[in-house]
Amino acid sequence: MTKKQLALEVIERLKKEYPDAGCTLDYDQAWKLLVSVRLAAQCTDARVNVVVEDLYGKYPSVDALAEAEVDDIEEIVRPCGLGKSKARDISACMKILRDEYGGNVPKDFDALLKLPGVGRKSANLIMGDVFGEPAIVTDTHCIRLTNRIGLVDKIKEPKKVEMALWKIIPPKEGSDFCHRLVFHGRDVCTARTKPYCDKCCLADICKKVGI
Ligand code: SF4
Repeated sequence: MTKKQLALEVIERLKKEYPDAGCTLDYDQAWKLLVSVRLAAQCTDARVNVVVEDLYGKYPSVDALAEAEVDDIEEIVRPCGLGKSKARDISACMKILRDEYGGNVPKDFDALLKLPGVGRKSANLIMGDVFGEPAIVTDTHCIRLTNRIGLVDKIKEPKKVEMALWKIIPPKEGSDFCHRLVFHGRDVCTARTKPYCDKCCLADICKKVGI
């Protein structure tokens, strides 16, 4: 089986296993996903979802958050860790959205990358989830699982994993595929315990590299 064939089979099986898998960060407007994804660095999505309720309760718009004191933002987002740098990035980011994009999130990968605190992973998440564009989100689950399954070969650097996956994942499948890897990584192909290969829907096709 080629890597492309393996990828297609994995995509189909994970679709059956997790038909409704989507982004686990709660948001109803694009700029909120931008904020949440910054807060999610080294923090769980569940905690971010709680913290942003306080943040948006006090600052319910791009303008309000752009006007907020960085110290006030830090006070609220501190439970997510790295409060100082996250607050600084969120403030700077909201100011740019307000001043350069009319309060909107740009539908442009390179423009997203230029925003403070936005890396390739976040820019891909926005392109896929907000705009429905092709996207490969190489988070920790994606990197671990694609290596174990044998879709990539001993690549740990996120950008290199992303580039390798672009070659074998149909573009329209990328975003949902990555969300499903998160679910599978949490439930079955776990990081902190031995993966549960005996109950995995990919067991007969997975290369189980490093297991
Ligand atoms: S077979 Fe094991 S290593 Fe492979 S994806 Fe499933 S749980 Fe992970």
